[in-house]
Amino acid sequence: MQIPPFSLEAQISEIGAEIEEALIKVFRSGKYIGGEEVTCFEKAFAVATETSYSVSCNSGTDALILALRSLNIGQGDEVITSSFSFFATAEAITTVGARPVFVDIDPENYLMDLDLIEKAITSRTKAILPVHLFGHPLDMEKIMAIAEEKNLKVIEDCAQAAGAHWRGKPVGSYGDVGCFSFFPTKNLGAAGDGGAITTNDFNLAKTIRELAIHGMPKRYFHTKIGYNSRLDSLQAAILNVKLTRLNKWIEQRKAIAINYISKLSTIESIELPSNNLINNSGHSWNQFVIKVIDNSFVKNIRLSSEDILDNSNRDKFKAELQRLGVNTIIYYPIPIHLQPAYKALGYKEGSLPITEKVCSQVISLPIFPELKSIQQSYVIDKIKEIFKK
Ligand SMILES: *Cc1c(COP(=O)(O)O)cnc(C)c1O
Repeated sequence: MQIPPFSLEAQISEIGAEIEEALIKVFRSGKYIGGEEVTCFEKAFAVATETSYSVSCNSGTDALILALRSLNIGQGDEVITSSFSFFATAEAITTVGARPVFVDIDPENYLMDLDLIEKAITSRTKAILPVHLFGHPLDMEKIMAIAEEKNLKVIEDCAQAAGAHWRGKPVGSYGDVGCFSFFPTKNLGAAGDGGAITTNDFNLAKTIRELAIHGMPKRYFHTKIGYNSRLDSLQAAILNVKLTRLNKWIEQRKAIAINYISKLSTIESIELPSNNLINNSGHSWNQFVIKVIDNSFVKNIRLSSEDILDNSNRDKFKAELQRLGVNTIIYYPIPIHLQPAYKALGYKEGSLPITEKVCSQVISLPIFPELKSIQQSYVIDKIKEIFKK
């Protein structure tokens, strides 16, 4: 059996016909930019995130850039964020001319360690950019309290967390702005690139909307240097169909996560997400991440050392799983602060010890709403086989 880390084709049987109909309707209308589908999606997404305004754009990366620009963050400013994220989180900060300042993470939930934020604040700090990584929401009340006290803006990176909530309130509704990605592998994925910004601030929404269309409040009248960043009508048509299923799909992901935890909890060489993550949060389970914490299993591995390029226990585990037909992904093998592109920031190995250690231990197991129980049982059996003494 071959198990993929995620499968986008699996959704076709459920929603394929509905999507085809929606796409044909847009195609026949001859209106491919903006229009009813986009307006309808923005309204529905604002409702889903319990915010006043949602502005769609071309990607999650653009959402972050537009959000930072709308808050006038740029040259000379610092933004506090996490190095354990997809590169775009920091890249957006650099793109607008500001400097990312990384704080270390909590090793249990992989999120920015909120106790380290205050120490990282300087006279140049303008904003905090928390990342709801893997769909797990941060304590937004705590972050908003720090921001209020220190007079900082908050930009939530919700790229992996559409449908997640903290204390019953959706992510993206706490900060000044929330930034979402509709990249195909996210919980709410388009068939291509897409993104959205959420906010309760009328003026920010207006500025973001103008920036996304060449800084153009009126046709051919430009007040800012902006971008060309729009959600295609065809993508909006797909998202309109998918948004109605988002909560159901998250429930399916949650059931898969709970099953992994109950079946794998006896294995000592791995660390599972804690029960806290399951019980106390509106986790949307975009990823199911475990840590490989020792090497007692290595003697069971049938691969020769030449088959394994990297040398961490985690990489050996990943290679053996792959040999057995279970395909996994590492989010993320190298933290942002150690990426060659960020050499100039001056971070070194050891700068963020927990982030660095976690990057060498984590592995994401297959999780997607349509993962069948026989497929998940196969994954669980193979993991047990590897760790059998
Ligand atoms: C995917 C992702 C982004 C960027 O979204 P794109 O739509 O791919 O540009 C930003 N931040 C995080 C945490 C992401 O996972």
